Amino acid sequence: MTQPHDMKSILVIYTGGTVGMVRDKVSGALVPLDFSQVSKHVPELDHAGIRVEAVSFDTPIDSSDVAPRHWRSIASTVMECMDRFDGFVVLHGTDTMAYTASALSFMLEGLRKPVILTGSQLPIGIPRTDGRENLLSALILAADMTDGEPTVQEVAVYFGNHLFRGNRTHKESAQSLQALISPNHPPLVEAGVEFQFHRSSLWRPDPLIAKPRMHSGMRTEVAWVPLFPGMPMEGLRRTLEWEDLRGVVLATFGSGNAPTSQVLRDLLREARDRGVTMVNVTQCGHGGVHPELYATSHMLAGCGVIPGRDMTTEAALTKLMHVLAQTDDPERIRELMTSNLRGELTPHRSVPTQGHGPAGAAGLEGA
Ligand code: ASP
Repeated sequence: MTQPHDMKSILVIYTGGTVGMVRDKVSGALVPLDFSQVSKHVPELDHAGIRVEAVSFDTPIDSSDVAPRHWRSIASTVMECMDRFDGFVVLHGTDTMAYTASALSFMLEGLRKPVILTGSQLPIGIPRTDGRENLLSALILAADMTDGEPTVQEVAVYFGNHLFRGNRTHKESAQSLQALISPNHPPLVEAGVEFQFHRSSLWRPDPLIAKPRMHSGMRTEVAWVPLFPGMPMEGLRRTLEWEDLRGVVLATFGSGNAPTSQVLRDLLREARDRGVTMVNVTQCGHGGVHPELYATSHMLAGCGVIPGRDMTTEAALTKLMHVLAQTDDPERIRELMTSNLRGELTPHRSVPTQGHGPAGAAGLEGA
């Protein structure tokens, strides 16, 4: 059968996750299927008006097993297939989807095509699955064009009737079908009877970057340390004393506050002097770090801790892994960590961004 000339081609990259799992007859646990079996459960794929091809991880995984080598494999598949496809849909487990989406956003610079991650809370083979709608909507959005250009030109996540910027997402619920949220950035698209595009929320790459490029380096000598009242400083000391440690994300209270402890102060200063990059991210569900507000967060800034603004933990950790692989220069690390590289943070004031920024002018609202 001949295909209409303007039919869009989307590559599905199937990594695993609940969306493609079935219950093992012996153990009763959910185990991954391969994509040909997944697609059998979505007959609508044949009528979506989109040419869909699929590649799959050799062994589909539960996303709890995701590691930087999987991010590299997804990113290099996107790069290798960039010219042959109009967009990409990555089927992925929800547990670490926000980490993978954040990591891919830093690894893939200057994207001009959509890379949309989706998955589901319920396996695709069961009647109430959310997987069918998520997959079909992700495909339709990946194929969407505006004025001859892909509407979405960034790494995004489609889940629970919303398209979100990938590096703004967080898995909030292990129960709800709206499992992923974007606490600090409005949705890019809301799916109701029609798709409602929020054009001013979309990201546009730096026009000076003529072609997408991949940064495969990810330094994993990093730690995430949530603070809590009464926390013994010995745990933090041991983490900071790790010889290979390059970076730490501190999950602090409220708008970026930490206990006024001399021991904490000394530990952070020693780590800074050893060249460890420290980033301050709030443990609150919404909002960000405002180091100018309280003396308890001035203290952290005074120890060289970089304010992570309104980055999610997932974005801060993967950005740190990415930035530490780019340079060893502490000033450059600070500059990159505080810059809005891929729309992952809301700049404090109007500083020049590395990317081109929001897509700007109205025109698609409600389109
Ligand atoms: N454990 C699964 C995974 O992340 C959960 C899911 O897909 O919803 O792979």
